[in-house]
Amino acid sequence: MHAVVTGGGGFLGAHLCEALLRRGDTVWCLDNFSTSSPGNIAHLYSHPRFRPVRADVTAPFDVPEPVHVVAHLASPASPPDYDRLPLQTLAVGSRGTENALRLALRHGARFLLASTSEVYGDPATHPQPEEYWGNVNPIGPRSVYDEAKRYAEALASAYRRSRALNVGIVRIFNTYGPRMRPYDGRVVSTFIRQALEGSPLTIYGDGSQTRSFCYVDDLIRGLTAMADSGCAGPVNLGNPREHTVRELAELVLETAGSPSRIEYHPLPTDDPTHRQPVITRAREQLGWSPVISIEEGLERTIAWFANQSRQPDSASYRVRPAFLEA
Ligand code: UDP
Repeated sequence: MHAVVTGGGGFLGAHLCEALLRRGDTVWCLDNFSTSSPGNIAHLYSHPRFRPVRADVTAPFDVPEPVHVVAHLASPASPPDYDRLPLQTLAVGSRGTENALRLALRHGARFLLASTSEVYGDPATHPQPEEYWGNVNPIGPRSVYDEAKRYAEALASAYRRSRALNVGIVRIFNTYGPRMRPYDGRVVSTFIRQALEGSPLTIYGDGSQTRSFCYVDDLIRGLTAMADSGCAGPVNLGNPREHTVRELAELVLETAGSPSRIEYHPLPTDDPTHRQPVITRAREQLGWSPVISIEEGLERTIAWFANQSRQPDSASYRVRPAFLEA
């Protein structure tokens, strides 16, 4: 199979490229590296079936080979990233999605849209099944991501209905694992970095808000199962085990054996109060469910972060983005 992965240099994209190469596919990896690093895929450059291209998918693009699946993952995905890149986030969710859809249409390929649990906003229904339509503030700071992904779902669904494109939509819940950026601002990467540095863990609000964290290997298995299926979705992909942010902080401290203390900061605007996927559809239609516990996933992730921080050449790991200095 020939696959195109937009955002293939990102956290999930790089893991997906690796998984597809491992099973024998040819992979075109498109990325402009606005929120990712070429370092994520440097180890794949010499692979004979890997085709990395530096490209911004908000401009039309094509590949000079047959394409069987287009996995559209390109987008800033962390709240500080899309807060810093609001217009780019809207552009990649709208124009970028349309360009990726047109590529799939030209090649008669399956189109896999990486949507998000953010389409549920601050959910009034708990846990969240795919039938729930969401509770999103259309003008708040998170709206550039939430509404771009909601538009992307609408656009992909319109291509499915009006052009008979083979579309599959997955809604990805919080995912963590190796290759997250230590300064991406997300809770798991931030807590692990802080625990390893011995600096205070920064809980926003009182830490009673919840998330459900899925280990990256489980998530990638879900993505490939969806790519291989004819399922239209949307399908929730996530780990249904729910934790408060405070529980997560304690788990990270314990697993890392860290002496760090906990510090409380104001809650960001529109921060969802709880989030937990219903994954019945993924179980029934894809035969998928996560198998890696948070304890094991955190152990693996902490080991990876600790190793990265010891590498003399991991400059991209250590660099603190300028926007975080402000
Ligand atoms: N969070 C936190 N401290 C941090 C970073 C995040 O308490 O240093 C909180 C954040 O306010 C949210 C939760 O952790 O309630 C998950 O945040 P993240 O950005 O990882 O994901 P999202 O909000 O997009 O689910």
